[in-house]
Amino acid sequence: MRKYEKVGLIGLGVMGYGMALNLLKAGYTLVACDVNTERIKMLPNQDRVIVAKNAADVLNYTSTVITMLPNSPHVLSVLEGENGLLSGSVGQDFFLIDMSSISPDITREIGAKLYAKGYKFVDGPVSGGQSGAMNGTLTIMAGGKEEDVQDAMPLFEAVGKNIIHCGECGAGQVVKVANQLMSAINLISMSEAFTLGTKAGVKPEIIMNVIKGGSGRCWAVEDRMPHILEGDFEPGFTIDLHTKDVKLAVDMAKNMNLPLYATNLVAELFKTAQVKGYGKKDNCAIIKLYEELSGITVRK
Ligand code: NAD
Repeated sequence: MRKYEKVGLIGLGVMGYGMALNLLKAGYTLVACDVNTERIKMLPNQDRVIVAKNAADVLNYTSTVITMLPNSPHVLSVLEGENGLLSGSVGQDFFLIDMSSISPDITREIGAKLYAKGYKFVDGPVSGGQSGAMNGTLTIMAGGKEEDVQDAMPLFEAVGKNIIHCGECGAGQVVKVANQLMSAINLISMSEAFTLGTKAGVKPEIIMNVIKGGSGRCWAVEDRMPHILEGDFEPGFTIDLHTKDVKLAVDMAKNMNLPLYATNLVAELFKTAQVKGYGKKDNCAIIKLYEELSGITVRK
């Protein structure tokens, strides 16, 4: 028998929706909660979907809850705010699995609070984007006590492929921030390289095909450049969310008095993209900054 027959999921956005599909596919009954209830109505297998009125209501059906929310304030409000989880009928077996990408410091504070009450808590941010969420192939960076991570494993296996226990509470978020700062820097290096090469007269699809087999290859080139070439900037992973992640890296480094030169520059570039109104576009829209400066577009 599966360890958790019913599981709560709060946040069915770009990522949470795909995770919901795979939890249903694995046979779970889903106790779904999103301020946008349209997201829940879109799900198949409605006979195994319970719509919770709010976070507290989720606990009327199950004590195991996954959160997949934008940022730290959303997770804190769902946990401690009005009609938050902790205002509900919290049993001693309450288990929170936060798969959002949020601040490692806030994660550790949440962990300390929940552990003090005898509850279980794991951070499990993900990488792999919308396609990884839809296909159940996410990489999951878990942080927490070994026994809690093992308990979360059947759920992680339902939505992910590459599941790594990174260390104590917050360690998953630390690794996620590290990954995000690299992918942001790679998006900028790709934007600069392709603007330079295209303006110098070489077709961008040729540059892409070469770099995919060269030492400059990265997710930005392999996964995002095909979208740029088609002029497709629909998210995906938004500039707003990626800016949030780069800012988490900047804040962490500031707290540790650690100079991170490229990360701080990239944070300003992402902020510029937000100011220009690209916040709700896919993160590959960062190339538009360079297209505007160079007077060319990187398209097929
Ligand atoms: P999203 O904005 O598409 O989804 C968030 C969902 O949470 C929305 O449906 C929203 O209505 C809901 N929500 C917000 N506040 C709520 C509340 N108080 N109660 C209930 N529901 C609430 O975001 P996303 O792209 O799915 O990202 C979720 C997390 O995963 C973020 O932390 C993001 O950084 C991370 N992430 C995203 C991607 C990606 O490619 N989109 C990839 C890896 C990690």
